[in-house]
Amino acid sequence: MAKHVLAFLNRPSPDAPAHAPGAPAFHFADAAAPQLSVLDLGATRGDGIFETISVGYGRPQALEHHLRRFASSARTLALPEPDLDAWRETILAVIGGLEPADESYVKTVMTRGIEGDDKPTGWVYGSPSPDYSRVRKEGIRVVLLDRGYRHDIEATAPWLLAGAKTLSYAVNRAVAREAARREADDVVFVSSDGVLLEGPTSTLVFRRGTQLLTPGTGLGILDGTTQANVFRFAETKGMTTGFELAGPDALLGADAAWLVSSVRLAAPIRAVDGTDLAIDHAFTAELNEYLKGLVE
Ligand code: PLP
Repeated sequence: MAKHVLAFLNRPSPDAPAHAPGAPAFHFADAAAPQLSVLDLGATRGDGIFETISVGYGRPQALEHHLRRFASSARTLALPEPDLDAWRETILAVIGGLEPADESYVKTVMTRGIEGDDKPTGWVYGSPSPDYSRVRKEGIRVVLLDRGYRHDIEATAPWLLAGAKTLSYAVNRAVAREAARREADDVVFVSSDGVLLEGPTSTLVFRRGTQLLTPGTGLGILDGTTQANVFRFAETKGMTTGFELAGPDALLGADAAWLVSSVRLAAPIRAVDGTDLAIDHAFTAELNEYLKGLVE
């Protein structure tokens, strides 16, 4: 057992040759040592996809949803189709090698590989999660930032890869720095035509009365695995859930709101562009306990 566990897939996709023909599906590697070629297109061009999966008490959460989204991202980038059985096997082996912890995560990465080789590179890395207990309780201040394109970009310009979980996250990091410059903790993107979208690493969920709402798919945003589980939880509490194409006023007028994602789980929003928003402490605490202990 180790704190950090790394495994490389021998054949990340059945549509591409194996790295070592006849070898097992994966091999463990030293997570503390350099492992990637400097010619890997994942490193040189951010040309690849990833997933980050919460592991609660040793169990992966929403694993099948994450695998489906991984395959969908691969299709959007015209990468070879991932061999989901091989990925699942490797993910479970990495989790099996992790030191027991209440909250860990695994990250799956598939790149286009070394230019000209036609062999995707694939690995799974597991690690303990950072402690997000304070954020889950005290909440986050968000700012609304223009994403610079319309809410229908997924249909009108699919080559921009909106809605796929690609390795090109430099923009997502840049907006976090912009949030810090504005003395906020996180960001909610708004489309150029005024529609609420998502956070740079999370899905927006807001409550109006007994209704829990999220912007929905097809808007160039990710199909959130955590949001799906948040809705399941809310429905067990008798709430109704749904998708709504909404503008910033819907968030500013919400009874409560959250940015939800794997690993950090449900972070309640306590201010939007400097305007306070109420935190539903009891619901948030119960929701995070549910998400942490989820068995799927
Ligand atoms: N939207 C973006 C852009 C993300 O990067 C993420 C997760 O990292 C999410 C939404 C939330 O997805 P999930 O709940 O499946 O982690």
